[in-house]
Amino acid sequence: MSDQCIFCEIVKGNIPCAKIFEDDQVLSFLDIGPLSPGHCLLISKKHYARLEHCPADLTAALASRLGPIAQAVITAVNAPGYNILNNNHPCAGQLVEHVHFHIIPRNPNDGLFGNWPADKYPAGEMERIQQKITDSLAI
Ligand code: AMP
Ligand code: ZN
Repeated sequence: MSDQCIFCEIVKGNIPCAKIFEDDQVLSFLDIGPLSPGHCLLISKKHYARLEHCPADLTAALASRLGPIAQAVITAVNAPGYNILNNNHPCAGQLVEHVHFHIIPRNPNDGLFGNWPADKYPAGEMERIQQKITDSLAI
């Protein structure tokens, strides 16, 4: 737990939330600033700032709940699709530095997340980065 962390305060019950689900490791509730109706969050109960800090069993617990919660959310709001979003570090848009996944219902032409500016690798660059990643991988 972190005293400065809004999600830890929600876990402790000091700040209210519109709860959807909880078990011993995770908690899900509606996002207070929805990108679409039904937008909710799935958080770890224990404070970790980033996904890369989470122990594997906690990551697995979070992942195992995403599909069923997403199914319930899109059924409830009658949305034909959804995005799972997990921001890590401020440069990636992480405002609350406590691990969480967004479940964001999507509808045709809803204007969310336009086309991403996909690039191409120059010759040899993909293989160079592939090698650097595999050299760094600690699993
Ligand atoms: P991120 O930018 O990935 O860190 O997203 C943090 C999210 O937490 C934002 O979508 C906020 O709207 C949401 N949020 C912040 N405070 C609360 C709160 N008290 N209850 C529910 N959602 C919150
Ligand atoms: Zn926290």
